[in-house]
Amino acid sequence: TLGRLAEVAWNRFDDYESLFFEGSWHRSQQLAGRARRACGGFTELGVRPGDRVVVMMANCPEVGITYQALWRAGAAITPVMFLVSPEELRHILLDSGARVVVTTTEVLPKVQAGADGLDVRIVLVGEETTGTIPFSQLDSGPEGPLVDRAEDDLAALMYTGGTTGRAKGVMLTHAGLYSAAGRRSEQGQVSDPPNRSIVPLPLSHAYGLIVTLIGMHSELPRVSVLMRWFDAAQWQRLAAEHRAQIGPLVPAMIQMLLADPGFGATPLPDLRYVTSGAAPLPREALDEFERRLPGVEILEGYGMTETSAIISSNPPGARRLGSVGLPIPGYQVVIRDDEGRELPPGTDGEICVTSESVMRGYWNADEATVAAMPGGELRTGDIGHLDEDGYLYVVDRKKDLIIRNGFNVFPRDVEDALTEHPDVTMAGVVGRPDPRLGEEVVAFVSLAEGSSTTSADLVGWMRDRIGQVKYPREVHVVDAVPVTSVFKTDRKRLRKMLDEYSS
Ligand code: ATP
Ligand code: MG
Repeated sequence: TLGRLAEVAWNRFDDYESLFFEGSWHRSQQLAGRARRACGGFTELGVRPGDRVVVMMANCPEVGITYQALWRAGAAITPVMFLVSPEELRHILLDSGARVVVTTTEVLPKVQAGADGLDVRIVLVGEETTGTIPFSQLDSGPEGPLVDRAEDDLAALMYTGGTTGRAKGVMLTHAGLYSAAGRRSEQGQVSDPPNRSIVPLPLSHAYGLIVTLIGMHSELPRVSVLMRWFDAAQWQRLAAEHRAQIGPLVPAMIQMLLADPGFGATPLPDLRYVTSGAAPLPREALDEFERRLPGVEILEGYGMTETSAIISSNPPGARRLGSVGLPIPGYQVVIRDDEGRELPPGTDGEICVTSESVMRGYWNADEATVAAMPGGELRTGDIGHLDEDGYLYVVDRKKDLIIRNGFNVFPRDVEDALTEHPDVTMAGVVGRPDPRLGEEVVAFVSLAEGSSTTSADLVGWMRDRIGQVKYPREVHVVDAVPVTSVFKTDRKRLRKMLDEYSS
């Protein structure tokens, strides 16, 4: 179980400075001690094995301490992005049945609004506030014992990104998360493994969680620089100062770094790998990043909450551009057509995954579970193909497919082509319902500062580039293409913007 994994990780090395956060170092044994005591504190508060506890805060050391304390107490974590609205939090509280929320001062008003009238206790990291229990009280009492759980007991109830609809609770087990992270850390092995990482990913998201768990499997004393929130200038400064060797990022963060004219001026000679996942990384961005930071290899991977965060990744030194890499050992990937028949290499279909790390199901949603994993195999809802050597290529989400006049148009193809235009910084593409064609392709773009490119220029440029069928007849220039709280292109929002931006 993950409680045991933490115990083993803590005992593997002598005390050392393991975590840097906002100007201070935290020592490994100090963090371990706080987690053991917080475990006692949560038990004292009435948290029992099997209970779900909501953790809703921006990154800080207490996030990790809370996760480890709860696993040790036999409870399950329910991480929630601190940006969600009170209504979304309320939905999660009611759906999960959580009766404790751990949060910080900045987020407190939102938590109070979301939990209003519910039987929920609030644990606060920050100044003492009436009506809340100080975290400092929780982690200063006696240590709590390690509670053993069964391998397939709930370790995390994680709500999905909500990119395509209302957030669903995904039930992840101890064994599933444990082995996903363990196998990933093995696959990442190179002769001289990097052990200093810079982590700007929200720990409330599956990607950030798995990065943390991979660190717990590490055979080396691992040093992490944790960022409360991603900031391009700060990321560069911290990576240089702490000589980070590995930097997990998402594509939107890569784009934000590239948008900084000074990016690359200070080389980062220690940085060897950047992993990218959670959304597609345009080829242009990969090339430019590596041009501006020579020596860095970007390794793209693919995963989803439902599969304990990972499915595939590009191995160091053996990546294929445009691919999301090879399935991680323990994950079987098959491509199927709509009738469920297995498709040969090179043919696009739905990506289907079998693994012990696939979720037990959606919480409180048996129908959705059966639909997503008939017979135990997970249908990802993503379209893609394998090549002859087993590398996986993700094309797009099935739900986002635009059918224009009977032809399939994948928004991502159109977005990638648009971002190849020198003035386009980001693009989001959706279909507008059309009585004659079924759907029409519509693009929203943001432009580089000072650009005088017009919508008409872009329509013409795209017609020449991707041809009659796919080119967007409508291109709207916006200040910023909307992204979700985990930085994915928010196509749901874009569809709502269609009325406002009629042609
Ligand atoms: P929801 O399920 O609530 O709509 P979501 O699917 O965005 O939200 P996550 O589980 O965080 O929630 O994201 C998983 C999805 O992200 C995958 O199904 C896939 O569509 C996309 N994705 C992840 N990595 C990549 C990648 N490297 N390339 C393309 N798409 C990716
Ligand atoms: Mg999803």
